[in-house]
Amino acid sequence: MQDIIYRIKELQEISESLEPKESERNASMDQVWDFSNNFINNLAYVKTFENNHPRKDRFKIDGKAKGLHQILEVYRDEVASKGICAASGGHLGYIPGGGLFGSALGDFLADITNEYAGVSYASPGAVQMENGLIRWMCSIFGYPETAIGNLTSGGSIANLIALTTARDRHKIKGSRIHKSVIYISQQTHHCILKALKIIGLEDIQLRYIELDHFFRMKPDHLSSSIQKDINMGFMPFMIVASAGTTDTGAIDPLNSLADIANKNKLWFHVDAAYGGFFILTDAKKDKFKGIERSDSLVIDPHKGLFLPYGSGAVLIKDKKAALKSHQLSANYMQDVDVVEEDVSPADVSPELSRHFRGMRMWLPLQLHGLKPFKACLEEKLLLTLHSRELLLKAGFRIGPEPDLSVTYFWYEPKRMDSNAFNKALLHRIHEDGQFFMSSTLIENLFVIRLAIFSFRTKLREIDLAIETVRKCLSLTLEDLEHQK
Ligand SMILES: *Cc1c(COP(=O)(O)O)cnc(C)c1O
Repeated sequence: MQDIIYRIKELQEISESLEPKESERNASMDQVWDFSNNFINNLAYVKTFENNHPRKDRFKIDGKAKGLHQILEVYRDEVASKGICAASGGHLGYIPGGGLFGSALGDFLADITNEYAGVSYASPGAVQMENGLIRWMCSIFGYPETAIGNLTSGGSIANLIALTTARDRHKIKGSRIHKSVIYISQQTHHCILKALKIIGLEDIQLRYIELDHFFRMKPDHLSSSIQKDINMGFMPFMIVASAGTTDTGAIDPLNSLADIANKNKLWFHVDAAYGGFFILTDAKKDKFKGIERSDSLVIDPHKGLFLPYGSGAVLIKDKKAALKSHQLSANYMQDVDVVEEDVSPADVSPELSRHFRGMRMWLPLQLHGLKPFKACLEEKLLLTLHSRELLLKAGFRIGPEPDLSVTYFWYEPKRMDSNAFNKALLHRIHEDGQFFMSSTLIENLFVIRLAIFSFRTKLREIDLAIETVRKCLSLTLEDLEHQK
């Protein structure tokens, strides 16, 4: 007995270092604040893209304790200054996220109190906060009080939850799978296909609906495809629309698609991961008409609310169906079954234990109010128009006017294949690194995208970015001269 007590005390002395004293906490915070302030203050002056590889050996876990100073150095050199600087307003590639300071504070507090946000019983406050955020999003998108939802790690998992619910609600299993049909478009985000694969629907029939000049689904073609499928004995099941496509920022004609879904009793899913929060702007809210008629909806606060990565959301109208697909229990969970007023996140998600991600969204919304969020979104729309004008003036060709804040451009060289030229131009832009842009193929044409979506992308960034593109164009044209 004495031996055990002695050993416990010995171990305690060692393990105590996991709980730093207040003075040590203060010292650590000072260092982290310095790091953070330096990082934020310098964002406007550092490159957005550094195409160099981190040194693997510096990440090695050798089991020895190190000073925070040394650790932060590795973080700065090998992580924060390699690849795309996603916190930078110069990030104009893919769909930029943000990284609001208030979210970092929220995450910090969520980690300190370490709320267990999986079940209401464990942290009713955390769960009510998250459900409050879901209610708020329901109200924005015109979903009823009875709808349900979940804060996920991102749009991919949010889509997975929605599609799983749709699958079960329509009993798509066994021999019904290969007879059932989903209507999507070439612009549908690939995470939809990934989700279908994960939930066992890879053999389902997919119909790609034709797009108009603005990359929006053509309702007429959708109607005729459905009719054709019915005539051939297939079972139309679901329409997947986009409210803000990744490539071109297009919003499908949601209201017309809702009519068609309604008429044919199909599940109507809208992926608004990128575009959803533009519904908050006066300029664009009409384009979302019909979204309130969808059965499920995905939005990414880590895009449209400028949160750091790790925040998506799904809303589902049919509460019973969502619970039926995701609610399971076990013996060791029996205490949880006391009557729960609030839906627990674990009952609408594949996750049980999870990060208390409501706090990183709730805190900035409360701290700033909605006004600056709306202003920021509208600002992005106008910056997109502004960038298109500058590109035209600089001699570029530009894609059709986008519904939202993703646009694309390309240069038409006189004596060279356009795709090869624009690839070379993008390479130059990447080498320069001041701004980051990505490319895509639009009907086999290689184009460079501008996705204007970071809260740190301002007029200054756009003017400088287009100036950089012009500079890179000159260099690419010079390269071409030399090659002759
Ligand atoms: C970003 C995006 C997704 C994927 O979301 P993640 O948060 O990256 O998982 C899905 N659909 C659309 C339209 C997107 O823009």
